[in-house]
Amino acid sequence: VIRCRAAVAWAVGKPLSVEEVEVAPLKAGEVRVKIVATGICRTDDHLLEGSFPNMGFPVIPGHEGAGIVESIGEGVTSVKPGDKVIPLCLPQCGECSFCLNPESNYCLKCHLSESQSLLPDKTSRFTCRGKQVHHFLWVSTFAEYTVIPECAVAKIDAAAPLDKVCLLGCGFSTGYGAAINTAQVKPGSTCAVFGVGGVGLSAVMGCKVAGASRIIAIDINKDKLAKAKELGATDCINPRDFKKPIQEVLTEMTGHGVDYSFEAIGHAETMAAALASCNMNTGVCVMIGELAAGSLISIDPMLLLTGRTWKGSVLGGWKTRDCIPKLVSSYLEKKFNSDLLITHTLPIAKVNEGFELLRAGK
Ligand code: NAD
Ligand code: ZN
Ligand code: ZN
Repeated sequence: VIRCRAAVAWAVGKPLSVEEVEVAPLKAGEVRVKIVATGICRTDDHLLEGSFPNMGFPVIPGHEGAGIVESIGEGVTSVKPGDKVIPLCLPQCGECSFCLNPESNYCLKCHLSESQSLLPDKTSRFTCRGKQVHHFLWVSTFAEYTVIPECAVAKIDAAAPLDKVCLLGCGFSTGYGAAINTAQVKPGSTCAVFGVGGVGLSAVMGCKVAGASRIIAIDINKDKLAKAKELGATDCINPRDFKKPIQEVLTEMTGHGVDYSFEAIGHAETMAAALASCNMNTGVCVMIGELAAGSLISIDPMLLLTGRTWKGSVLGGWKTRDCIPKLVSSYLEKKFNSDLLITHTLPIAKVNEGFELLRAGK
């Protein structure tokens, strides 16, 4: 048993509490990882707000981390102690019919298939003050040591700086891949990205790499728009500067709507607006943002009848164990600069301050 610190969420709506937890030794097929760095993704905040009622509390959140393998359970072959790894909030078992389908990146063994917050054998490796603590997305990166199933760990290049590439565990890969894999943005096309936080800014980078000639960033926070411009957005608009609906503004700006639109906020209204903003016949809209469990979106069916395509994207469409290590190599080759997404670096003891910065749009 390892005793270490972790940020524990005891109940919905309560700040995290950094305290000592016990991390149990491994069962077969598991990997124990010393987490070196972790990002904060809005999905962690959704968890704290209570958007996922099936997920148990207390829980150790965090799913955008990077670390070093401390020990491996029986039968683990793909990593060994000392390897640098990125925990995968979307696993890749490599054996299920979805993993075997080259067009799918959703693994049927995933915790999402049966939304719960324990390891695959329905037990937890964490305890705190004598109570069982839940895992989050099988990775719980807000702990100094965490236990992860082998299918949710990717070995990465030993030269990778863990305090930078942790972002490839979720936010960066999600937005970048939504443009490259899910939308398959074509050179010369026009794109609109709704919400340019960590995920949306990464979508802007993906659109740029794919050769889009016009990238319109949409956000209500002008500081985010300035950052989007730095990363490749050609136009930046704040919906609050207009009286008319943003889909009308975009349609006027582009003639017939954009070729590709992305929703990286997580609101029903902006999802409907993003759909209406793309070309009525050939437009593709990609939903990335997450709505609270049980939410509904209301749209005019004519929006789809005329030909638009509405798609969702989970972790940017990457087959995670195959692709995240390759993305790390591309990072090391400077094919993109995800470091520009890093605004603050804090010790884990200040994790609540990190969430305050996220909520304040900083
Ligand atoms: P973030 O909070 O950093 O960014 C959201 C941005 O949206 C902010 O810049 C905010 O100012 C802007 N915004 C809020 N309301 C707006 C409005 N009405 N109009 C325009 N802009 C508005 O969040 P993030 O970490 O980038 O995550 C974005 C969304 O993606 C979240 O819902 C998150 O849960 C989801 N997500 C999905 C996946 C996936 O695999 N599909 C992965 C990661 C995150
Ligand atoms: Zn995330
Ligand atoms: Zn699988």
